[in-house]
Amino acid sequence: MKQPLRILLIEDDPGDAGLIGAYLRPVRFSGLAPRIVVATSLGEARGLLLEVVPDLILLDLALPDSAGLATVTTVHGLAPGTPIVVLSGHRDAEFEADVLEAGAQDYLVKGEFDSAHIGRAIRHARTRARLEARLKLQDAALRAVAHGIVITGADATIQWANPAFSQMTGYSLAESLGHKPKDLIHSGLNDAALYESLWRTIMAGQVWRGELVNKRKDGSLYDEELAITPVRDAQGVIQHFVAFKQDISERKASEEKIRQLAFYDALTNLPNRRMLLDRLQQALAVCGRSHHVGALLFIDLDDFKGLNDTLGHDIGDLLLIQVARRLAECVREGDTVSRLGGDEFVVMLEDLSGNLEEAALQAEGVGEKIIAALNRPYDLNGNEQHSTPSIGITLFDDSHDSIDDLLKRADLAMYQAKEAGRNTLRFFDHAMQARVEARAMLEAELRRALRDNQFQLHYQPQVDAGGRVTGAEALLRWNHPQRGLVTPGEFITLAEESGLIVSLGHWVLEEACRQLTHWGASPSHVHLTLAVNVSARQFRHPDFVDQVLAVVEHTRANPLRLKLELTESLLLDNVEATAEKMAALKAHGIGFALDDFGTGYSSLTYLKRLPLDQLKIDRSFVRDVLSKPNDAAIARGIIALGLSLGLPVIAEGVETMQQRDFLVSHGCVNFQGYLFGKPMPAGEFPG
Ligand code: C2E
Ligand code: CA
Ligand code: CA
Repeated sequence: MKQPLRILLIEDDPGDAGLIGAYLRPVRFSGLAPRIVVATSLGEARGLLLEVVPDLILLDLALPDSAGLATVTTVHGLAPGTPIVVLSGHRDAEFEADVLEAGAQDYLVKGEFDSAHIGRAIRHARTRARLEARLKLQDAALRAVAHGIVITGADATIQWANPAFSQMTGYSLAESLGHKPKDLIHSGLNDAALYESLWRTIMAGQVWRGELVNKRKDGSLYDEELAITPVRDAQGVIQHFVAFKQDISERKASEEKIRQLAFYDALTNLPNRRMLLDRLQQALAVCGRSHHVGALLFIDLDDFKGLNDTLGHDIGDLLLIQVARRLAECVREGDTVSRLGGDEFVVMLEDLSGNLEEAALQAEGVGEKIIAALNRPYDLNGNEQHSTPSIGITLFDDSHDSIDDLLKRADLAMYQAKEAGRNTLRFFDHAMQARVEARAMLEAELRRALRDNQFQLHYQPQVDAGGRVTGAEALLRWNHPQRGLVTPGEFITLAEESGLIVSLGHWVLEEACRQLTHWGASPSHVHLTLAVNVSARQFRHPDFVDQVLAVVEHTRANPLRLKLELTESLLLDNVEATAEKMAALKAHGIGFALDDFGTGYSSLTYLKRLPLDQLKIDRSFVRDVLSKPNDAAIARGIIALGLSLGLPVIAEGVETMQQRDFLVSHGCVNFQGYLFGKPMPAGEFPG
């Protein structure tokens, strides 16, 4: 049911009161006449206001018990939400402003209004009071919200921000106004793509939600969860953006903490079992795609329990922490070192060679490195302690192994390492183990062979077009006590990888130079040159030049008759340093042949820069020179290249007259091959 508008008229002058009453009588609010109650003093008004709150107050400022602005303030205080229309005796713009400021909605001058005026004034006052109340509520709410709120113009400059924003960022409202948020709190740590998507979204009129890392006024960083809403005007044009922000640093930190607890070992900070299983799962998936091989190394400390029991858990913990640190130093960045618990660690290697055998050797290499690292003495609170590990290794590839099986295998292999006497490593795979052992044995045998003089050189003749012997290539043979004569194909690579090639190569050089000296004393052999193969690792050794010169000097070999055979890959590795070494030897008369030419990169630029004396056509081209047009073309090309550079060309692996004739017909006049003589002991070499 509709209620009449209740008006409280506070007016001490009965004449004025009567007049206003008369004005109001014909006015209708929602079709009803207002109900007017009159108070003749502030005191009386106070009493009435305590009983009923009216819909509107008409207020005369000159009352017996109150006057002026104070009257407005008091009445507004008594009825805070009620609209007040002040009735004043005179017009005074400044005073009017004060009155409105003090809480009144309108200001009418007595004698200047009529019935229609006052009706309109009352209606407007009520509307204004309602809007003001709503604004006040919204303002209070925006200020009170715990989230940061920022309102910008369409140009992104800040027009308003709430206290929570200031608290979050350290920028007061005054400092923020007129600036773009990005000038204040930009950290530079967010993806450019993120900002792009942000702008694209809000410019399209949509709400963007996301997380940013921002910077406070004091320079500290915080994580912010943010929603930006574009605000359009009546024409649909975006005029403002409202950002709703929340500092989620704490939440992030606790999430990180939880992750840390869930995936890392608290004592060593290494990934724990769960994390390892996770990564292993991923690694298996990657292996499937990349065809790489990975390895699991299960590491258990020998007699950790004993140390723990005698020295106490605190010391045991110290050891585990140091072991963890050393393990981490033994692997590459992408590898995983984890602690399963107790004294059990698992290292996962990824990205090993795609070849199982090579991968096994790489894993073994890391295993050996770990054994060496963990064997170093430990300083545990001033006590020097020793500890050794037993390591079990298993390889994994894309063969759909289950994670459990892999761990079990590595564990089993670790027990085999324990059984084998501890402080060692074992492979799970027997074939792998056998190959790794065979290799280790071969390496040991090679060392022994060098010591026991089981190596010898064979000499293969090199001839000219007339069939005259002009020199020889020295080729290494291993006179193995059980296996007989072993050719270099079976051991040179291992000698390279193990570094043994440096001493082996030195021996070869010395033996070859001795042979040269020997030939030099015999008139029938004095003209012969001798080619000696030099491997990359040997050549790169910093002492190489000095060693060669020393050997030449003390064997008294004629350096003009000595030729070193280098391969392309060796030359290309570091052209500058290579050229320098070659020049140093060249200065003493030593020559150089480029071995296996045509099989490598065959870059012509280095051919000119390096002091070469001969190109050697690889025997793979010579073999098929008559049957494969491609190989014939390469052979012809090399010969032509040699001729144009003024470099003699020699063909190796010549086995038939037809091959020789073909080569001769294209201008190659030096040969080496079974057609002219196999590699043979010096005593059998023709003179
Ligand atoms: P290489 O330098 O290409 O040596 C030529 C190889 O071809 C030798 O094999 C030789 O016996 C073989 N050969 C010669 N004529 C013929 C032929 O007509 N037909 C066929 N099928 N083969 C022929 P070898 O002695 O088994 O040596 C193999 C490789 O081992 C050499 O290839 C060389 O790279 C390396 N090597 C040999 N001796 C040494 C050495 O003292 N030091 C170093 N670093 N490497 C050596
Ligand atoms: Ca050679
Ligand atoms: Ca060769």
